[in-house]
Amino acid sequence: MISQSFIQELLNRIDIVDIIEQSIPLKKSGSNYVACCPFHNEKTPSFSVNQSKQFYHCFGCGKHGNAINFLIEFSGISFIDAVENLAVQAGMPMPDKTVITAAANRSSSRLKVDTEIDNQELIEKKQDNQVMQRMTDQLQRAADYYREQLKHATKAISYLKQRGLSGEIAARFKIGYAPDELRSLSQIFTDYDRDESENLLLKNGLIIRSNNGRYYDRFRARIIFPILNQKGQIIGFGGRVIDEKGGPKYLNSPETSLFIKSRELYNLFSARKAIRESRRVLVVEGYMDVVVLSQYGIEYVVATLGTATTSSHIQKLLRQTDEIIFSFDGDNAGKKAAWRALETSLAHLKDGKKISFLFLPDGEDPDSFIRKFGKQSFESLFEKAIPLSDLLIGELSSRVNLESSEGRAALIQIAKPLIQLVSAPILKLILIKRLSQLAGVNQEALTKIFESKLKNANSQSSKQIESLRLQPISPYHKLIKILLDDPRFVHKLDRDLSCLLNAAPQQTVLALEALVSFYKSLSSQELETQKITETLLYFSETMHAEELNKTTELKLGWETEIDLEAEFLGLLSRIKDMQRKERMTVLQNKPLNLLTEQEKRELQQLANSS
Ligand SMILES: [Zn+2]
Repeated sequence: MISQSFIQELLNRIDIVDIIEQSIPLKKSGSNYVACCPFHNEKTPSFSVNQSKQFYHCFGCGKHGNAINFLIEFSGISFIDAVENLAVQAGMPMPDKTVITAAANRSSSRLKVDTEIDNQELIEKKQDNQVMQRMTDQLQRAADYYREQLKHATKAISYLKQRGLSGEIAARFKIGYAPDELRSLSQIFTDYDRDESENLLLKNGLIIRSNNGRYYDRFRARIIFPILNQKGQIIGFGGRVIDEKGGPKYLNSPETSLFIKSRELYNLFSARKAIRESRRVLVVEGYMDVVVLSQYGIEYVVATLGTATTSSHIQKLLRQTDEIIFSFDGDNAGKKAAWRALETSLAHLKDGKKISFLFLPDGEDPDSFIRKFGKQSFESLFEKAIPLSDLLIGELSSRVNLESSEGRAALIQIAKPLIQLVSAPILKLILIKRLSQLAGVNQEALTKIFESKLKNANSQSSKQIESLRLQPISPYHKLIKILLDDPRFVHKLDRDLSCLLNAAPQQTVLALEALVSFYKSLSSQELETQKITETLLYFSETMHAEELNKTTELKLGWETEIDLEAEFLGLLSRIKDMQRKERMTVLQNKPLNLLTEQEKRELQQLANSS
C-alpha cells in the first residue's frame, strides 16, 4: 500500500501554499492566505490557507483539507494521481505502482476523514516529528558551539574585520567558527561515534564517515553561517574558508530531511519585514553578500544556497513581494545564472509583478560595491537593472543574425518554447509584439505560430525545457549522475550498496546496479580515467542505455563550486532514510502475530535508528 509515512513525508516536503497557488491566486492576509473559494461561487474571499498547519478551509462552503485533498477536489483527479503529482514536485520517487493501486481506495477514504488514522500510523508520525525536532535541536547546539568558538579564533575574527563586518552584524547573523580540528564537535556531542544507522550528527550532515569507518567534522577552519527555515529554525550551515587553500570556498550542509536546497533561501526568514516594507527583494549569490548588504542598510536581501534559482524560490519570493531584483556578477557564469533564473521565472511571473536583473560593473560584487559607494549608490543601480522582457529579447536577438531572413526565422524558432511558458497575458502580448517587430512578422500570425502545438522541432525543445525545469530529480538519478561524472565515487558505495538494490523505482536501480558492477570490474587506474562517453558506449546496447542516457541530460542546477563528496554522502543517507521508512511500513502493516522473531528485531532496529 502507499504508506502513511510516505504521505506524511510528502506533505512535509511540499508547501500547500505553493500547490494551491498553482491553481488560484492567493493573497496574504495576516498569518494566512486568502482567496475567493474555488469550490463555491462568491465575491468576497472566505477561502483561507493556513501555511503553518498546511491546510485550507472555506468558511463559506466548509470545504477543507490538505494539499492532496485540494488537488483531488480542484482538479478532479484520483488520489493516486494527486499523490504522484505532488511526489514529482517534491522529488520523491513513488512507491511501486502495483502495490499502490491495491491500497488506493483504503488510503483515499482514510485521508478524506482524518479521523481513521490508526495507532500505528500516529506513532510513526510522532516519531518522524520527534526526529525532526531532535535534528533541529542538535543543529542549534552546534550553532551555539560554533559561535562560542568564534570568540577565541583570532584568525577568523581578523578575517571578518578585514571584510568590514561589525560585531553587531556577526551577532545578528549568528555567525560562528568551526575550529581547524578533525573532531571538534565530539567535545559537545557524546554520541559522536554512534553507529552509522543511529548517528544523528551524520543524518544532520555535521560529520562525515571516512573510508576506514572513522567519523570527522564536515566543517573545519570555516566561518559558519546558520541557515534558517521559514519558521526560523536552523536547518543547516554554510561554511566559508578563511584560508583560500582550505578546499572549496563555500561548503554547505548536504541535503538532509530538514534541508532541501531547492526550496530554501538564505536570510529569507530574517528579511521578511524589510521585504514587506521596501516592497522588493534582492537576490544575490553568496552569504557574504547578504551579510554585508544588510550591514550597510539593504536588508531586503536573500541568497540561493549553491543551487540555481528554482521555481520554488521564485514562487516563495513572489508571494512576499511584487518585485524581484536578481543581482549577478557581470562575467559569463553570472550571465548564465541570470538566464537560468529568467527561464525559471517565465512560468511564474504574473502581470503586475516585476523581475529585473542587475549586472554589476566588471570586477565588482555587491559586497565590494556597497563598501566603496554605499547604500544610496547601490540602490540607484536598480534603475539600471534590466527588466526580464528586455533581457529575454536582447539575449535571443543576440543569438541570431537579424539582417537575414533565415536569422529572423531562427529568432521565432528559439523564442517559441520560451514564450509558450509565459502565463501572464500582458507580458506575453508585449513580448510577442516586440518579437513581431524584430522578426518583421505580423503580430497576429506570430501569435498563431506561438499557440500552435504542432509536433515539430520546436515543440520538442519546449517540452525539453519544460521537463528539465519541472521534474525534480530523484536521489537515485542524482546518484547515477554523480557516478557517471566521477566513477571514483563507486568506492564509497561499498557498504551501502546492499540497501539500494531493493529500492523503487526498479529500472533506475537496475541501471545503478549495472553501472556499479561495471565500475567494480575496472582497475582503480582505469577508474581514474574512465570517461563518461566510454561508459555510455559500453551500455549502449543494453537495457540500461535509456536510463543512463536520460540521466546525463538532467541538469542538477548546481553551481560550479559544490562539494560533490558532501552531495554524494547526503544523497546516500537520504535514500537510506527513505528505504528505512518504506521497510518499516511493510513490517508494520503485517499483523503482529505473523511477524517472525527476526522481523520483530528488524522493526525494533529500524525504529531505533530514526
Ligand atoms: Zn467555499
